[in-house]
Amino acid sequence: MTKHISFELSARDGKARAGVIKTPRGDIRTPAFMPVGTAGTVKAMLPESVAATGADILLGNTYHLMLRPSAERIDRLGGLHKFMNWDKPILTDSGGFQVMSLAGLRKLSEKGVTFKSHIDGSKHEITPERSMEIQRLLGSDIVMCFDECPALPASDAEVAKSMQMSMRWARRSRDAFGDRPGHALFGIMQGGVTQELRAESAEALREIGFDGYAVGGLAVGEGQEAMFGVLDYAPDMLPEDKPRYLMGVGKPDDIVGAVARGIDMMDCVLPSRSGRTGQAFTRAGVVNIKNARHADDPRPLDAHCGCPACRNYSRAYLHHVFRSQEMISGMLLTWHNLQYYQDLMAGMRGAIAAGEFDAWAKDFHDQRAAGDIEPL
Ligand SMILES: [Zn+2]
Repeated sequence: MTKHISFELSARDGKARAGVIKTPRGDIRTPAFMPVGTAGTVKAMLPESVAATGADILLGNTYHLMLRPSAERIDRLGGLHKFMNWDKPILTDSGGFQVMSLAGLRKLSEKGVTFKSHIDGSKHEITPERSMEIQRLLGSDIVMCFDECPALPASDAEVAKSMQMSMRWARRSRDAFGDRPGHALFGIMQGGVTQELRAESAEALREIGFDGYAVGGLAVGEGQEAMFGVLDYAPDMLPEDKPRYLMGVGKPDDIVGAVARGIDMMDCVLPSRSGRTGQAFTRAGVVNIKNARHADDPRPLDAHCGCPACRNYSRAYLHHVFRSQEMISGMLLTWHNLQYYQDLMAGMRGAIAAGEFDAWAKDFHDQRAAGDIEPL
């Protein structure tokens, strides 16, 4: 088994890429979708169920884990993998984005950010150095640089100033991370929707040198067209031979569009969160299981899906347990949604390897355009 993290590209089709990230904890097949295990759990799923969907890696949130139960406690208990019973790779975010979106009374300076916990109001600080320490204590396999993502809308001058500080923080993150064989550090490109700023950010990151590169600052409300506008050029600015990670994306059609533009990794809470609110992602688009049309429907949610929700239960049952607010509702729909996302990634990997990505993508869009099966 490998002692280092490496990335091998095995196929290309247009800008889409297929490959594998090799880690001491196992291979990550790319394009990869990472389910989000915010507080040491992918909500409503056992870790072995997450693995059964085909997930090779999941994402943990530094912000949540540092506040509760704390990185030090997780370290004392043997690290995050042991703590949550997941032995495959884990990527942790740096905490920066969630401090901006969740914490109270934030104070940002060149040194880092101080804030009050949204849980109990206690005061905390994250700096690039502290973020690297927390992610080391968690035992994360892929560590993210600490960065700042400005709230939109922001002027070009504000985005530039924020991006330049993030690049200084990227250098400090690299220095603090040090040399840790078997663990990877990813830099994060910023620069909003401005091509010149994206280029400046990419140049700064390449000069520092990372094991992988994320495209940050997207999926923050700019809309799909603006996001694809940036993805039309941003991945090309990053090193060809390293994985490229689009943070916080997204809906199935966002994911397909991102892979078409050269992205290798993604994460999003959408499949798990939607599963708890009665929304299912299927080959025919989004199905709202709460709709009355499903109440008498004995057919599976998605006849082409092999997950337990589709194999063993009817739409009528899924509708009933959702309406009755039974826990199994969130469990089954989350499993289905995560299975759908992993099937989507496997479909793209196969299509890229076969040189048929465009035809695959057309079929993906056609099936969605055709919509759900007719009501009975
Ligand atoms: Zn299913």
